[in-house]
Amino acid sequence: MNEKVYPSLGLLYLSAFLKKHGYEDISLIDMNDGKPLPSFVDADIVGFYSTTPQFPTVLKIVKEIKNINRAKDSLYIIGGPHVSGKPEDAEDNFDIVVAGEGEMALLDIVRKKEKNEKQERVVRCAYMSDLDSIPFPDRDLIDIRSYKYRLNGHLTTTMVTSRGCPFGCKFCANNAWGKTLRMRSLQNVFGEVKLLKDKYGYDSIMFFDDTMTVDKKRMNGLCELLKGLGIIYRCFIRSDTVNENVLTNMRDSGCVEVGVGLESGSQRILDIVGKEEKVGTNLSAIKACHKVGLRVKGFIVIGLPGEDKESVRETIDFLEKADLDDIDITLYKPYPGSVIYKEKEKFDINFTDDYEKAWYKGRPESYSTNVSTKSLTSDDILVLRNQIENRFKKNRG
Ligand code: SF4
Repeated sequence: MNEKVYPSLGLLYLSAFLKKHGYEDISLIDMNDGKPLPSFVDADIVGFYSTTPQFPTVLKIVKEIKNINRAKDSLYIIGGPHVSGKPEDAEDNFDIVVAGEGEMALLDIVRKKEKNEKQERVVRCAYMSDLDSIPFPDRDLIDIRSYKYRLNGHLTTTMVTSRGCPFGCKFCANNAWGKTLRMRSLQNVFGEVKLLKDKYGYDSIMFFDDTMTVDKKRMNGLCELLKGLGIIYRCFIRSDTVNENVLTNMRDSGCVEVGVGLESGSQRILDIVGKEEKVGTNLSAIKACHKVGLRVKGFIVIGLPGEDKESVRETIDFLEKADLDDIDITLYKPYPGSVIYKEKEKFDINFTDDYEKAWYKGRPESYSTNVSTKSLTSDDILVLRNQIENRFKKNRG
């Protein structure tokens, strides 16, 4: 399957960072192509990035790479959200596990390898505080325009203006970037937007920050810079971080759609998972977006701790009122690193560590879940999810 929707910006950041420090001989095997591995590689250091659902596949691929790597004494490294939450899963198959942000850790590993120094098995990284010191992602490493995400029909690419999220949703495994919010300067962000436009020909951007509007003053400032550039964009918000003023500025600077994590229409469920938002706030934010002319895509999760038929009914009632333009109904998957995963016994939730089933909606056409609550079996959760999608998804297919 060709999954070329968005490139992995994390890997492109790592490449740019190493190049900035003089390590130029870097290549990337882009497995998003769906193409087979090359017949051989010749790499002193082989790095992998993996989310939880990708992890079983990554374990297979590292074995294959070890067979085709002609270099002797290579180091095999893995980073990304899964091993940042559960490094022990990777210790049998990788020499080094990087937990957290990878730039400084990888540079240190490369330097130690050069000097033949002893390496740590698990590297827990300090978060980079000065994001402006990180160069823009090395998009020349891949065929960037072969990624197919479109916004309003425009070929669209991704970027991030901040790292970290200060909120504490208990289902969220924001292991890689952590809770400390760090933001790039607006001039630095503007420079990358200009580069995407002038060098790569993009007039449409998907901002992948966890919450783009976490600082309204900064967002207003960014809107001022974006106005007049002739780009359109999409980003993620939290309902309690927006008001009509910032949403108007966003619209005027090219925003056409926002994605918002609504999770559930049941206040009881929002409280259990530590969302610290009110159902009413979510409804008001959606109304405010619609009032200024922004489309809203809402993200709903079925199977969160405590889910029962009543909470699902409340979610259906909520969706009736919300009148979203687009919707994603996901199956809850407890990811390593999240509070619910780590403190399972405190929640009304049962699950197994079946990472093959950890796709957040399931692989297309074969959705499955490894989660149940006291009131709902895994099958119940799957059926309810599909019923809600059939009823509310406008843009199927
Ligand atoms: S779900 Fe979103 S708002 Fe909540 S902690 Fe994660 S990134 Fe932050």
